[in-house]
Amino acid sequence: MMTRRQALKTTLMTSLACATAAEFRFANAQTPAPSTAASGPFTLPSLPYAFDALEPHIDARTMQIHHDKHHAAYVANLNKAVADLPELSSKPVDDLLKNLSAVPEKVRTAVRNQGGGHYNHSIFWQMMKKNGGGEPSGELAKTIDKAFGSFNAFKEQFTKAAVGQFGSGWAWLVRDGSDLKIVPSPNQDSPISEGKVPLLGVDVWEHAYYLKYQNRRPDYVAAWFNVINWGYVTERFQGASK
Ligand code: MN
Repeated sequence: MMTRRQALKTTLMTSLACATAAEFRFANAQTPAPSTAASGPFTLPSLPYAFDALEPHIDARTMQIHHDKHHAAYVANLNKAVADLPELSSKPVDDLLKNLSAVPEKVRTAVRNQGGGHYNHSIFWQMMKKNGGGEPSGELAKTIDKAFGSFNAFKEQFTKAAVGQFGSGWAWLVRDGSDLKIVPSPNQDSPISEGKVPLLGVDVWEHAYYLKYQNRRPDYVAAWFNVINWGYVTERFQGASK
């Protein structure tokens, strides 16, 4: 039978083991483990396909670094920013971004940047798929034709916004009330912070394309059209996805 002294010792040893594990995770915060080991509250979603699924348009190495390192870092940094703020950590990230003015000033920039990075990438992965590309159909196609003249005119304007974004950022097709618009955003700013619904977005940070395309952003954007998941974009258009 375990004495009280032994029990205390066992408890202490267990606590020390846990503390060591926690410190280990903290020390590795720059290269966090997959979502299963996340310290939360925000977690890195799995990529919905293999790293090489978008080859040859987007290379596997870029996808792996982009998801496992860049997106993971946004999640880890967002978790750090809200660590002492349960009123923030209990909300979905899109709710925080939709109402940035309600986020305490001391962490507002962090939530905007890291939370924006987390949210934008979470939807970005789903906007692409293996054997994607082509053109949308149905109501979305009609609405794009009405807003931009034709699919090709849309593609041209979207490409112009993506290529023309100075420095790091995104180009988006958004639903703004009943209108469709093309808007760029700098850094990790998300259209949802401006009351718009992002339907499709392309990441034009160099980390999204530099290994394969170096400075040739136009080539990356042109290739990226071949991996668009129009089914998911249509779901977003119909309001089925946040
Ligand atoms: Mn990115």
